[in-house]
Amino acid sequence: MGDRMADRLSRDELKRRVYAAIDRRAEEIVAVGERIRRHPELGFKEARTAALVAETLGRLGREPKSGLALTGVRADLPGGAGGGPTLALLGELDALVVAGHPEADPVTGAAHACGHNAQIAGLLGAAMGLADAGAADHLGGRVVFFAVPAEEYGDLEWRIAEARAGRLEFLGGKPELLRLGHLDDIDLAMMIHTTAQPEHRKAGVPTSNNGCVVKTIRYVGKAAHAGGAPHRGVNALYAAQIGLMAINALRETFRDEDTIRVHPIITHGGSQVNVIPAEVRLETYVRGKSVEAILDAEAKVDRALRAGALALGAKVEIETLPGYMPMTCDPTMAALFRENAVALVGEDQFVVVGHRTGSTDMGDLSQIMPVLHPYMGGARGTGHGADYEIEDRELAYVAPAKMLAAMAVDLLADGAAGARAVLAAAKPPMTREGYLAFQRGLARRAVYES
Ligand SMILES: [Zn+2]
Ligand SMILES: [Zn+2]
Repeated sequence: MGDRMADRLSRDELKRRVYAAIDRRAEEIVAVGERIRRHPELGFKEARTAALVAETLGRLGREPKSGLALTGVRADLPGGAGGGPTLALLGELDALVVAGHPEADPVTGAAHACGHNAQIAGLLGAAMGLADAGAADHLGGRVVFFAVPAEEYGDLEWRIAEARAGRLEFLGGKPELLRLGHLDDIDLAMMIHTTAQPEHRKAGVPTSNNGCVVKTIRYVGKAAHAGGAPHRGVNALYAAQIGLMAINALRETFRDEDTIRVHPIITHGGSQVNVIPAEVRLETYVRGKSVEAILDAEAKVDRALRAGALALGAKVEIETLPGYMPMTCDPTMAALFRENAVALVGEDQFVVVGHRTGSTDMGDLSQIMPVLHPYMGGARGTGHGADYEIEDRELAYVAPAKMLAAMAVDLLADGAAGARAVLAAAKPPMTREGYLAFQRGLARRAVYES
């Protein structure tokens, strides 16, 4: 039993102190989560939520930097025991528009139907626990608390306009933070996402997630009197419908193992009913497990979209935007999380989730550094659905604070031996520059006129 056991005990002791500090702040942590839940904001517009984060971190004696990638907030806690690696703990600020959600903002339609409010509660709770327990003195590396904007990739017309005005380049929060250099000094990162899926139990780690590209599509036809002279028009809505049908016909060509997801929406379907639609706009993601699978599927989707224009004699403009990269969770970090989760929620409440078919911009980070993106329970209903709600405030808001803080202790105590082990074993496939070049290379605009 030598030093290893002694180190082990000191980490456990530190965690006990941090957990006790978080328990003392439990009411405050729950209040943060509930306050954000009642004031949902869309990505890159999370001004009120960001202000709450900055104010809370400021009260903990940190000096937060705000306005990073428009609304991100970052505060650093330097380790007092050496200059080891830097760990970022992330929480996502944004909500999304879900029709019929009872708590949707009456003006924007935004609702916390993905539980990101719980992420911020957990992040701030971890900051409180580590600060109150004086953990920094024992940590051999820096902890960065980072509230990040715009994980939900939507509100596209507004974001594209912001990009044209030069205020954004990428349309997701973490890619923008990467581009702007706000993550340049981060060596490894993690966050905890709330889940409402019972099969995830109280805590689970996925092995991987789909990535995606994003497309905005504009069919252009010719307006004419819909009753008096429809033969003089070109119906862009019918062209779009044929494009959508052709995409659906492609689905049998997608291999199960590539987990392709294509799910277009119509955002504009015509100007008024007595006019043959001259303009119809669509948006879609093309998701898949690997970059190769995504590129194969998105080329087929473009071909299908062109078929609609060909059939009607219309024009289609397809703008392809970089989306999110596929994500891989770091196995060394996952093993540490498992230990902490089992200690907190019990062996029978921990599960390895496998591959997930949603996408997250944590995937972009995973291309260049080791990351972990576990799930914890406490919500019920349907993710991105009108019935999504937090049902267990302790599990949704307070338990993630403990888990984030415990991971900071495990990775950065003992001279940051844990983080060094993660970094020694990890082989992220891309450099920052390579990542930026790859994403920029995906962007293109194609016009097809039959
Ligand atoms: Zn979501
Ligand atoms: Zn989410």
